[in-house]
This record gives sequence, structure tokens and C-alpha cells, in this order.
Amino acid sequence: MNPKQVLLVEDNALNAKLVVFLLEAAGHEVKVATHAKEALTMLTGRLPDLILMDLQLPEVSGYDLTRQLRSAPATANLLIVALTAFAMTGDEAKALEAGCDAYVTKPVDAKTFVARVEGMMERGREGVEG
Ligand code: MN
Repeated sequence: MNPKQVLLVEDNALNAKLVVFLLEAAGHEVKVATHAKEALTMLTGRLPDLILMDLQLPEVSGYDLTRQLRSAPATANLLIVALTAFAMTGDEAKALEAGCDAYVTKPVDAKTFVARVEGMMERGREGVEG
């Protein structure tokens, strides 16, 4: 697939490293924000094709950041995929409720992760099933 721009919002350096490695190996460009404020600053420039959103962030959570993005016209239609750390079903439902289009469970599966998110970027928001 053509190179895409991805914004990863993740405060855990080790998790971020793996996701960045996998996506860059596939030719995509990844920027990392470690907290909500940093993500918002990055989103004032060129908008990414995909936001990967950790939900457990310091200060402003990924849920609240997602709600904030959905309520602002400039970012309302971005493709946002949650990275859910827990195998708790409530976590995933909460992510979708907050406005995420889909979720991927952490730790990400190195074998399938890139194909999954590329598929989501290809199909776009309407084609992604939560
Ligand atoms: Mn986190």
C-alpha cells in the first residue's frame, strides 16, 4: 500500500517502539505523541491518515482525547483506532462509545498488526467495523 501517515498516541515507550518499528518497516511514516496535549499540537499541521490511540494516558485519557477530536470539525472525521490494553470487554465498548472506529488489543500481534491497520486505512471509517 502507498505510504501513509500515522499518529501514534502512546505513553509507553516500549509499546510505541514496536508499533513504530512495524509500521515503518511497511513504509509508513509514524509520529508519536506521549500525551494528549502533544497529540493536539501535532494535529494542527497536516492530518494523519490514521490515529492509533492508547486509552490509558497521563492527565487526559485516550477516551477524552478521542471525544475532543470528534467534537472539533477539523478532526471529527479522522480514522481513530484504539489500542486497548486489557482483555476487558468494557474497555473496548467504551472506546467505541468515545468515538473510536475500531480497536486493536495490546500487546499488538506483530504478525497481523500492519495488515489489520492497512486494511482499516484502505476501507476508511465507513468500512471499519468496530
Ligand atoms: Mn498508556
